[in-house]
Amino acid sequence: MSTTPAVGINVQTLRADFPILATTVYGKPLIYLDNANTSQKPRRVIEVIDMYYRTMNSNVHRGNYFLSQQVTLAVESVRRKVQKFINAAEEREIIFVRGTTEAINLVATSFGEYSVREGDEIIISAMEHHSNIVPWQMLCARRGATLRVIPITDAGEVCLEDYERLLSGRTKLVAITHISNTLGTINPVQHIIRRAHDYGAVVLVDGAQAAPHMAIDVQALDADFYAFSGHKVFGPTGIGVLYGKARLLEAMPPYHGGGAMIDSVTFEKTTYNVLPFKFEAGTPHVEGIIGLGAALDYVQSVGLDAISEYEHDLLCYATDALQSLDGMRIIGTAPEKASVISFMLAGSSGEIHPHDVGTILDNEGIAIRTGHHCTQPLMRRFGVPATCRVSLAMYNTREEIDMLVRALRKVQTLFS
Ligand SMILES: *Cc1c(COP(=O)(O)O)cnc(C)c1O
Repeated sequence: MSTTPAVGINVQTLRADFPILATTVYGKPLIYLDNANTSQKPRRVIEVIDMYYRTMNSNVHRGNYFLSQQVTLAVESVRRKVQKFINAAEEREIIFVRGTTEAINLVATSFGEYSVREGDEIIISAMEHHSNIVPWQMLCARRGATLRVIPITDAGEVCLEDYERLLSGRTKLVAITHISNTLGTINPVQHIIRRAHDYGAVVLVDGAQAAPHMAIDVQALDADFYAFSGHKVFGPTGIGVLYGKARLLEAMPPYHGGGAMIDSVTFEKTTYNVLPFKFEAGTPHVEGIIGLGAALDYVQSVGLDAISEYEHDLLCYATDALQSLDGMRIIGTAPEKASVISFMLAGSSGEIHPHDVGTILDNEGIAIRTGHHCTQPLMRRFGVPATCRVSLAMYNTREEIDMLVRALRKVQTLFS
């Protein structure tokens, strides 16, 4: 049944780079299908963190001695890697943060302070992750602004006509996910950005799900802000990136106050450091930054185009295989999709609760996510309390999909 697809990555070689993929759970080989939640780490990420503590550990930008200079060079070289990874125009447009969540909160707070006033409007979509909803609600509450929501279609695409109707001279910012973590929809962000700019609004793209799956070019998109998390792109937790156009970042007030973000401090007045340091108060997550650098090197050595192609093939294979089951309902059927499949499964006596599906799959060594995936409004839109979600990465295989389908058949027999 499963044959190796004829595309440019050797999945078995690649799997050997991820130690966790060789482990077992309950005596069964681990089948990890929860990559939209967090991805596994290649050996070189794990090793570079170990190497950092064994041979380099010291603080950045602070010491005049050998180790500190080495660490500063290493951190700044990762900043250049990130700049290239998303094709930003300048290094100083790359801010290290804890993750996508912090990146969005930074923009909501600092850009909000700089530019959002009473009566202004912020537009998001109905498929946003809670971290691209709540910070904007908090901002609107602080400033007396209004949150507007672009509805989505039954297939799980943003309604572009409704978007047109929501845009106006009052629109200050549009915040949209590049790829939905629940539906897999790839949004037409380039178009969304262009239309927002026609109204003088800026756009933040939540790239948490895009970074591991497709090549990103913030200049081609003309994105004003772009956010992603290290842990979803095969790097460590606790590190992420905010890209912002220099012109905007320069105009915005700092987010956190503290060390490293200052130029001079007296009790009367403090002046701030230049970009990117103005937004990087305190000791950074050095091991995270160095680990992220190794993760981006790894992804680029595989090649994002090869990854996209391989995953697209696997997504089609998995979609067909899942649809071969009676009682399978896939939620999110947009033509442009990345490798995320949300579904509901029914047995002969009706729909099976996703948590039951997840528990039985777990006993088979298969890790999927069940729940609302931090998108409660989206669950309401589709009239379900939760879904089962399979999310694939470049190291997943057709054999794993076959095992998943077999296990789902077993779930159905248990619930018949
Ligand atoms: C995971 C995710 C986030 C939040 O990322 P953190 O790493 O938890 O900060 C935001 N948006 C989307 C689309 C996500 O998938």
